[in-house]
Amino acid sequence: MSRFVYADNAATTPITEPVLRAMMPYLTECYGNPSSMYSKGREAKRALELARESIAEWIGARPGELYFTAGGSESDNWALKGIARELALQGKKHLITTCFEHHAVLHAAQALEREGFSVTYLPVHENGLVRPEEVANAIREDTALVSVMYANNEIGTIQPIAEIGAICRERGVIFHTDAVQAVGTLPIDVAEQNIDLLSLSGHKLHAPKGIGALYVRRGITIQNLVDGGAQERGRRAGTENIAAIVGLAAALRDACSTMKERAERLCALRDRLIEGALQIPGSSLNGDAQHRLPGNVNLCLEGVDGEAMLLLLDRQGICASSGSACTAGSLEASHVLLAIGIPPELAKSSLRLTLGDQNTEEDVEYILSVLPAVIERLRTS
Ligand SMILES: *Cc1c(COP(=O)(O)O)cnc(C)c1O
Repeated sequence: MSRFVYADNAATTPITEPVLRAMMPYLTECYGNPSSMYSKGREAKRALELARESIAEWIGARPGELYFTAGGSESDNWALKGIARELALQGKKHLITTCFEHHAVLHAAQALEREGFSVTYLPVHENGLVRPEEVANAIREDTALVSVMYANNEIGTIQPIAEIGAICRERGVIFHTDAVQAVGTLPIDVAEQNIDLLSLSGHKLHAPKGIGALYVRRGITIQNLVDGGAQERGRRAGTENIAAIVGLAAALRDACSTMKERAERLCALRDRLIEGALQIPGSSLNGDAQHRLPGNVNLCLEGVDGEAMLLLLDRQGICASSGSACTAGSLEASHVLLAIGIPPELAKSSLRLTLGDQNTEEDVEYILSVLPAVIERLRTS
């Protein structure tokens, strides 16, 4: 019994039929440039603004607070660099983030350190959670920005961002969250959760790759990352990717309008997969079992090489990951697993399976039928 099971939805997701259908007119006959005066341009402009209104509404923002970007990485870079460089003008040159952020945040923070900023990297506890009181204790007179992700892309843990946001608001510090893994899966209301900036990306929620957005709360000044034309109210230059933006709006609508049912279904699949996988001797779950993204399973399998495991699973038609996709291919242990205190050797035996809307109970049973033999084989080889 051989199947194809895509269980790497935290790395990327396929575009769905309805999203593709929504995009098609903007890849074909509606090719106008939204900055043009004639009707073909205005038609594109209208689609752009309708998409902006719709996306803003799903996260509790105003359309004027949303800027389209080329994805999560650009949004994260813009948030950190744009705010840090602006507030440096007021002498605020300190940032706070955590050790287990996505590399788009971590490497942007390191780039700022090379520009003379100082950065506090907060620890993450063994359950994969950041403690709000530690954020409060790290805030200084010269702190410009706090950046804590909403949900971790490797171990799926969900952070107490509303509490962290409240602390930042009270202390007059700007709060950014990388919500790439959360948008469309967890409820978001930027006003209620005291979020000043939020990054999102299309391809993690069935929209195309290369489209994302940054929410910037009204009244916050951020320096541009990309200079050029007057698109995005002069804040982010470049002819807008209308088809992808329309796709993002359609994908977000589909995800948000079915959030509860999808989460329930995925939690059940996830818990069945965790329960089955933990029957394997020498296996352990990474990250809190409760405060966890619906589709996320992340395990360590003692004595097994993570990369070899992925190759054998691939031969059985299973797409999974070990560490994050961005570090796969390099021999380093995942910085996220190290951050939660997993020893380097054990961290190299990790397996991340992330389930999505297209996965079924049969997929989970298939993974559970294949996994023990794969691990047994690697342990005895
Ligand atoms: C995927 C991801 C990103 C990067 O988004 P891209 O659109 O691929 O650039 C950033 N942060 C998190 C948490 C992610 O999962």
